[in-house]
Amino acid sequence: MAKNSLTTKNIAIVGSGFLGLTLALRLAETSAKVTVFESAPEIGGLASAWRIGDVVWDKHYHVTLLSDSFTKKIVEEIGLKDEFEWVETKTGFYTDGKLVSMSNSLEFLKFPPLDLISKFRLGATIFYASRVKDWKSLEKISVEDWLTKLSGKRTFEKMWKPLLKAKLGEAYKKTSAAFIWATIQRLYAARNSGLKQEMFGYVRGGYARVLERFGEHLLNKGVEICLNTRVERIEKMEDGKWKMENVRQSEGEVSKQVSAAGNSSFPIFHLPSSTEKEFDSVILTCPANVASKIVPQLSEGEKTKLENVKYQGIVCASVLLKKSLSRFYVTNITDETPFTGIIEMSALVDKAEFGGNALVYLPKYVAPDDELFEKSDAEIEEIFTGALEKMYSHFKREDVVAFKVSRVRQVFPLPTLNYSTNVPSVETSLENVFVVNSAQIMNGTLNVNETVQLAEKFFENYLAD
Ligand SMILES: Cc1cc2nc3c(=O)[nH]c(=O)nc-3n(C[C@H](O)[C@H](O)[C@H](O)COP(=O)(O)OP(=O)(O)OC[C@H]3O[C@@H](n4cnc5c(N)ncnc54)[C@H](O)[C@@H]3O)c2cc1C
Repeated sequence: MAKNSLTTKNIAIVGSGFLGLTLALRLAETSAKVTVFESAPEIGGLASAWRIGDVVWDKHYHVTLLSDSFTKKIVEEIGLKDEFEWVETKTGFYTDGKLVSMSNSLEFLKFPPLDLISKFRLGATIFYASRVKDWKSLEKISVEDWLTKLSGKRTFEKMWKPLLKAKLGEAYKKTSAAFIWATIQRLYAARNSGLKQEMFGYVRGGYARVLERFGEHLLNKGVEICLNTRVERIEKMEDGKWKMENVRQSEGEVSKQVSAAGNSSFPIFHLPSSTEKEFDSVILTCPANVASKIVPQLSEGEKTKLENVKYQGIVCASVLLKKSLSRFYVTNITDETPFTGIIEMSALVDKAEFGGNALVYLPKYVAPDDELFEKSDAEIEEIFTGALEKMYSHFKREDVVAFKVSRVRQVFPLPTLNYSTNVPSVETSLENVFVVNSAQIMNGTLNVNETVQLAEKFFENYLAD
């Protein structure tokens, strides 16, 4: 693979998600001068935190698995290794109007909606998928055909289809079997074997604390971070260097990273000096179609490839509640509900982090043009809490302390058939311009560990001398 030693002088990174931040860290550890441009008012992208009621926690539910070695290494490097809490969590299923536990082998055997033979085939499918190594061959088969063949039609309809639709919507029909393979591989890696207990982890203070420390660590290494700064185009100068053009500055003079301690700290905003600067190289970590617009100088073929990556979006409600919904960290839903799963963060995280309240996420994965994006927080609250009332007899709307909705139109690329043959490359036809993003994760699911690993691989292949 190509190595480009020219780029290690003055580098611009577009995007301050875990990908951009990890790249910034590795480059700053060489002699490079690094500037990160971020359109949002805080660093962290999908992993960033926000305030809900009086609580500062992740905008989207996040856990670390014991097997997430890349995530754990970064957390260790920024000095938070001893701040991990590891917890055994329980999983529930909401099916045929009932909430049942499915956290161990015995509960699996009792699981009501499937007969014994279907359960055996389901268990055998999961075990088989955990043993498959050749994921590329699975890219050629649709996930529906593969799971139906292995588990049977009834199990597919009753179990797999609702679970696939929960994450992929109708796009499950175009999705390859590599998707479910990657999901099972990740979950399997988290357990010692078979259906044993899961151990999930979080850093005390959540990603707000991790990101605050990560940001400080980078600033100490001389990285410049420009928040509220949307890059709309890059332009090549006569001397061959690159300049940020059409940089749009959001409202407000100085942005502040939301901090785990609840104070606003970490003011970092250097728009004028950084945009005037010229860079030896540019690394774009934003979604593929955004990268295509920022670099119109790319060839038509490259732009088409970037724009052909189809993303799945999310509308995700954070709900702060006076009382817990259940003891399950994840409740999978096989019935029709307005959200596609329930994640009870307070079944994992000490409630003291949430002022004694429960924190629940209600995600709905949708296509980027779904009409749900147009609904207000109040409208979504009405629909979602109405469904909770029907599902949990003890739930009362008065128990809602705060309700806040995150909307992201581009969360992860849909793993369509033969996905890896159409992946946009990291190197571009333009000297010293690179595109690195989650579209290049070919045999894994989207998670911080895969994201950090992608950054480490990029550094190793292209930039380490
Ligand atoms: C609902 C949900 C649940 C998740 N759960 C988990 C979990 O349990 N465990 C786990 O490990 N991972 C989880 N993840 C995945 C994890 O959040 C991602 O893997 C990771 O955050 C991706 O980082 P990234 O840098 O690739 O992308 P992003 O975080 O999307 O970062 C890209 C950044 O680029 C910025 N940007 C875009 N365009 C421009 C522009 N023109 N100019 C400047 N900046 C720009 C964006 O604002 C953003 O900050 C979850 C994600 C979601 C959405």
